[in-house]
Formats: sequence, C-alpha cells, structure tokens
Amino acid sequence: MPQKNKLISIVISAYNEQDNVAELHKQLDATVKKCKGVDFEYIFVDDGSKDKTYENCLKLQKSDDKVKIVQLKRNFGHEIAMTAGMDYAKGDAVIFMDADLQHPPLYIPQMVELWQKGKEIVLTKRLDNADTSKLYKWCAKTFYWVLNLLSDMPIMESAPDFRLLDRKYVDFLKGFNEQDRLFRGLLSWIMPQDNVEIIGFKAPERFSGESKYNFIKSLRLAVNSIVQFSVMPLRIATGLGVVAAIMALLMGVYVFFEHFFLHNPTPGYATIMVTVVFLGAVQLICLGIIGEYIGKIHMEVKKRPLYVADYVEKKPKKEEK
Ligand code: UDP
Ligand code: MG
Repeated sequence: MPQKNKLISIVISAYNEQDNVAELHKQLDATVKKCKGVDFEYIFVDDGSKDKTYENCLKLQKSDDKVKIVQLKRNFGHEIAMTAGMDYAKGDAVIFMDADLQHPPLYIPQMVELWQKGKEIVLTKRLDNADTSKLYKWCAKTFYWVLNLLSDMPIMESAPDFRLLDRKYVDFLKGFNEQDRLFRGLLSWIMPQDNVEIIGFKAPERFSGESKYNFIKSLRLAVNSIVQFSVMPLRIATGLGVVAAIMALLMGVYVFFEHFFLHNPTPGYATIMVTVVFLGAVQLICLGIIGEYIGKIHMEVKKRPLYVADYVEKKPKKEEK
C-alpha cells in the first residue's frame, strides 16, 4: 500500500489584507509544488477584518479545497489569530506566516526539507527589513535588549512569526492558556536545545496595505511582553523604594547636623518640594508597575475563551457510486 503523505498546515493571520490574500495564495500554490512527499492545507485566519479579506478567502476556497478559513468574530490581535489557526490546524507540522507577503513563500520548500530531515523547529531570522525605518529598528533593538535584560529566558531578536513547528511543539504550545501571549516568548519557553534550525531571509516590503502596528501598539506589545515574562520590574520597584528611603535618611541626617551643629538650616521650602515631588514620582512609578501586573491577573483569572470563531471548510465531494 502506498504510504500516505504527511500534511503541512500553513497558518496565515490576516487583518484587513483584502488585496494580499489572492497574491499570497497564488505564490503559495506555485511554491508548494516543489515540496515532495507532503500535502498542504492553508488556514487563512481572518482576524475580524473590516474589509473584504473574508470574502476574498471564500473566493479562493471555491477553487481550492486546501483553503480553510477561521473567521474570528472580531479583531483579537495577531497572537490570538495565530493561536486560532494553530488550534484548527491538522498538519504534522505547522508553518506560520503573515498575509502581507513579507514572509516570502519561496522559503517554504527549504523549511519543509529541513523538517523532513528531522528538524523539529525551523525559525527564520530577518536579515534586513526594507519596510522599516532606522528609528523603528533602533526601538526594536532597545526593546529586545531591555526584554532580555529583564527576562529569565533569552528571546531572539529579529525573529519574525515565520516559522515551522513540528506537531509535537504545536501541541506543547496548545498547552498554554494565557490570554496575553507572545509566541516568541512561549516558544523560547519550550525550545529544545537541539533540533532547531534558523534560516535567514530578506523581508520585502508589504505587497499591499499598511502595517497594523503603530508606535503606541508596539509600545503596548513591548510592555505586555516584559510583564508576561518577567517579575523583575516589581523587584525594581522595591529597589526604587529602598533607594528613596536611603536618600531620605541621608537627607534627614544632613538636616539634623545642619540644624544642631552648623546652626545654619537651609530654608525648607525648596528641599521639601523636591523631596515631595521625588517621592511622589517614585510612588506613582511603583504603583504603575504594580498596576500592570494586577491588570494582567485581572484579565487572566477570568479564564475567558481566547477567541470566538467560525471554521469554514469545503466539504470534499462524495464519491459517486
Ligand atoms: N494581523 C492580525 N491581527 C492584527 C494585526 C495584524 O492578524 O490585529 C496580521 C496582519 O494581517 C499581518 C500580520 O499579522 O498578516 C503582521 O502584521 P503587520 O504586517 O501589520 O505587522 P508588521 O509586519 O508591520 O510588523
Ligand atoms: Mg507585515
């Protein structure tokens, strides 16, 4: 009996990508033909798009049974969109990619070949992103530096969400139930020491449309990532408190000395104001840090479902008798 081909699921998260999905599908179809001994399914996750992304995916499905659609009922964000796609993926391995063609399908045969040779995780590293400014690159570099400084786990820089995971690791990832998730971080958490390959690629510009990440969204993601993977900011808050207390004590000693021995006390108003403002700022910073963690606990303890979705699949035609 001929052996059944293994199945590879390609999970594509798409939010307002109406002009990209058809081109991506075309390029995917041209590329996957080069992979021998495997079958493919394409899981387009429509992350609550407001444009015609969903309708355009449905059109693709009409002519291609490999196209499956996970339609999220509102915009849940990129990380949750990838999670939803992963939940519905049936493959022996899953490839994650963006819908805007910044993750070129031409690297898929190489990823699949590495997997067929036994690599369980194939990551990619962006060598140069034509679409990003110098300032953005600098911010990203600083963010990873801070994240790695604070976090117990190394989190790879310039590692986009373009990767292949063996079923084993997909199942590990499905074990994480947290609402707020950063795939890169979760992956570092489960990453084996060996059996991982990294391939470099040049990310082209978006095929069409605009990036969904503005400065505020990226900053929010950065703060979330730090809070998710480290309690170090809480320790820093304690440290700030200790430093402020020591400074207050030293100042107290100085004022005492000045009053009783030098008989020349400094007029109080300026020092009081500086002290009050300084301590107020330290307290507010610490409260803010604590607030970030309490906010996370508040969201996580509810254990709400991660998303609400419909799964649209073209039923295979029944064989005629
Ligand atoms: N995306 C998504 N949900 C969102 C935001 C983005 O599914 O809420 C998708 C988006 O359609 C794209 C991928 O995530 O396929 C990466 O987003 P984008 O290209 O805007 O990010 P960038 O490449 O600029 O970092
Ligand atoms: Mg992009």
